[in-house]
Amino acid sequence: MSPADLRKRVRYWKNQLNLRAWTIRLVVIPCKDLPDNHAQVDYRADHDRATIRIRENEPNSEYWLVHELLHLVLAGLRPDHEGYNLLEEMAINRIARALCKAHKISCPPESEL
Ligand SMILES: [Zn+2]
Repeated sequence: MSPADLRKRVRYWKNQLNLRAWTIRLVVIPCKDLPDNHAQVDYRADHDRATIRIRENEPNSEYWLVHELLHLVLAGLRPDHEGYNLLEEMAINRIARALCKAHKISCPPESEL
């Protein structure tokens, strides 16, 4: 999906997930700049601002967009967003998979999650 198309999907999912108050910047970056993840989000929950980075040519880019947006839905539970939380990741992957399957959006194999 092109960066322009992905930005349209940001608008769509912001509405679907009731994240309209958030200012969300989407950045598509070379794989070498994000070697360990498909995508990543930084946010300031107290300012409703976030930057989502997605690797270019990512085959499941919309899935990862939904995944990162779900972190914002849950931001109130973990406003500092410090460190990696395995249970949070597992829950988000389950919800993202269900949402994407319902929208006929391709998902990565469960073995990659
Ligand atoms: Zn995540």
